[in-house]
Amino acid sequence: MKMLINGEWRDSISGRIFPVHNPATGDLVGEAPLGGEDDVVSAIEAAGEAFSDWAAKSPRDRSKILFFAAAEVRRRNTDLAALLTAEQGKPIREAVDEINGFANILEYYHGLSAVPQGEFANLKGYGRATVERRPLGICGAIIPWNMPAIIMGWKIGAALAAGNTMVLKPARTAPLTCLRLAEILGEAGLPPGVLNVVTGPGETVGREIARNPSIRKVSFTGEVETGRQVALDAAPAMKRLTLELGGSDPMIVCADADIGAAIEGVVRGRFYNCGQVCTAVKRLYVDESIADEFVRRLTARVEGIVVGNGMDRGVGMGPLNNRAGLERVASVVDAARERDEGEIVAGGRAPEGEEYKRGLFFLPTLVAGVPHDSVLFSEEVFGPVLPVAAVSGLDEALTLANNSRYGLGASVWTHDANVIARATEELDAGIVWVNQHLKIPPEVPFGGTKGSGIGRENGSRALDEYSEEKAVLVRL
Ligand code: NAD
Repeated sequence: MKMLINGEWRDSISGRIFPVHNPATGDLVGEAPLGGEDDVVSAIEAAGEAFSDWAAKSPRDRSKILFFAAAEVRRRNTDLAALLTAEQGKPIREAVDEINGFANILEYYHGLSAVPQGEFANLKGYGRATVERRPLGICGAIIPWNMPAIIMGWKIGAALAAGNTMVLKPARTAPLTCLRLAEILGEAGLPPGVLNVVTGPGETVGREIARNPSIRKVSFTGEVETGRQVALDAAPAMKRLTLELGGSDPMIVCADADIGAAIEGVVRGRFYNCGQVCTAVKRLYVDESIADEFVRRLTARVEGIVVGNGMDRGVGMGPLNNRAGLERVASVVDAARERDEGEIVAGGRAPEGEEYKRGLFFLPTLVAGVPHDSVLFSEEVFGPVLPVAAVSGLDEALTLANNSRYGLGASVWTHDANVIARATEELDAGIVWVNQHLKIPPEVPFGGTKGSGIGRENGSRALDEYSEEKAVLVRL
């Protein structure tokens, strides 16, 4: 595929390309242009030219395009999901969910943006006051490879609905679905230049988006260290920033929890997308009175997860997306094994067999009895590995849960109203779930506290993050 600039499909200025491989088979899925700084500059020019017409459109006209695009994305879900699985690795039913999730976001902002934004009042002594919301201008979006469609939706839904234009950079190992989704937006009527997609490396394409002063806001999702670099690069131009960074979500299972439901919650919460989700369950704290039974039943359930090519029927978990990620996961498990930090009760290695040889597979892994100071708890492990520890009660669980440099999500599993009240109050995270984990509907704001980032996406106030207020005082 080519990159999208000003409504045209273009090669990179250098003429270079990079391959995209299927992480389950190693096969070539496609190619994308290896963009550089010059390509970003050209996309910025296109976004700048498109801005005034797009901003001048009525919110209703803008939102209609999002609505038509969402309908077309739903209609083409099967093909889009197959492409997503091929380049990213996730099981096909998760890809189908993700494509629908992208459509959900566009539909949500279609509904919201048709409602006029702004306020007015007669301020006695000052005159008539209006507060308008105006788009920021050209926005930049930098996204990772784990959930490319959903995260693209988080970035473009509010930004385009609010009247901005955009330059978006997908990740190197999963750019193709993003390009297809951008193509569908164009077919639905998005004018040339409103959304430009530049493929290529973070060090060139990503950095130019962060640095270029014509871009007024950057929304970045990825690792903490990259986010810090983006913030430094964006600072001289005083850009607005949204940083959606890492997470190490705790899940607390209380003594009265429905154990069966909690086990399913762990399986989905940790092993969905092969554990490569920012809000995956990354630390499991189980009340000591049920810990042995819980770990025994969870181990049996985890050992039953079928690992394989995401396109194959019955597969519950696909490969990791890229070799660096696989190597990081394997090395953190090896480190825990060498230091004797807990007992690996499931997985802990790559699966054996001819069908796994060419792919980036790792078995779903459970490590029980992990000491609280283990690296498995302190670092974000971005793959299918779950450390478990028994806790002596809610006090200890909450202390451990909050003892992290991250604060993205957290969940508590109980039916005790007092425990729910206390846990939802005290857990330091951007989103707290009770008796569930992982679901992020477009209606609720999403983002983290502490090292998990700055700002929020989703929800009605995301429109505020992509616009600024202008006060006008009129005295006649
Ligand atoms: P990453 O930081 O390596 O890359 C993210 C994007 O940034 C990619 O497009 C990459 O090319 C680009 N990039 C790399 N260096 C850059 C630079 N110097 N300047 C600008 N852009 C640059 O992250 P990843 O490995 O793709 O994703 C995994 C991480 O993302 C995990 O830490 C995960 O928790 C996090 N994540 C967070 C959320 C959230 O909403 N909080 C959601 C998904 C993933």
